[in-house]
Amino acid sequence: MNIILLGPPGAGKGTQARKLVEERGMIQLSTGDMLRDARSSGTEMGKRVAAVMDRGELVTDEIVIGLIEEKLSGEQGGGFIFDGFPRTLAQADALGELLNKLGQNLDAVIEMRVDDKALVARITGRFTCGNCGEVYHDQTKPTKVAGKCDVCGSTDLKRRADDNEDSLKQRLMEYYKKTSPLIGYYYAKDALSVIDGLAEMDAVGSAIRAELDKS
Ligand code: AMP
Repeated sequence: MNIILLGPPGAGKGTQARKLVEERGMIQLSTGDMLRDARSSGTEMGKRVAAVMDRGELVTDEIVIGLIEEKLSGEQGGGFIFDGFPRTLAQADALGELLNKLGQNLDAVIEMRVDDKALVARITGRFTCGNCGEVYHDQTKPTKVAGKCDVCGSTDLKRRADDNEDSLKQRLMEYYKKTSPLIGYYYAKDALSVIDGLAEMDAVGSAIRAELDKS
């Protein structure tokens, strides 16, 4: 089963994708994570996209489609969760073609609907464990011991360079201009389900599972 989690920055796509990886053995394909890895390993591409990411703009379709193509041809297994991809109509068309070539389907597109005001609070307090990827929040989900990950004990806790109010405004603008048309695109393909992304984390997880079990 292959699914897309669609929603603005801070909607909780990454958190829910990680749960699905644990529960269902699916493979999370986050283009944001791939781009951040490229940056921190200092590849040429990573250097080229760093400033674009920090400004909260989208990197080119060519780069992200290339990243996804590489992963799709390499990894197979319990199905893919596309997290943060596609973000433009060109990327959506390319994904359809890539899956087609592999003889695979897109089984569900789940839009995680949230209100913009909640996003600012969610994003500006967010930090992540650099080792295991667990996501925390200063107010709503602090670590039990300050500076130490509850899950793996690592002290490598990080804040993203683009998790600030200015970048977030730009990221939201990009979302509404370039990504939100995908809601209509997938609706017209009869693939779209909408869930309340502002509900409790476990309730959001249950809503996603219920949608997947229908597909
Ligand atoms: P994310 O972790 O999904 O919030 O992505 C962080 C940043 O990476 C975005 O603000 C973009 O600059 C870039 N990015 C991630 N995925 C894509 C994509 N599918 N298309 C273009 N840019 C992307």
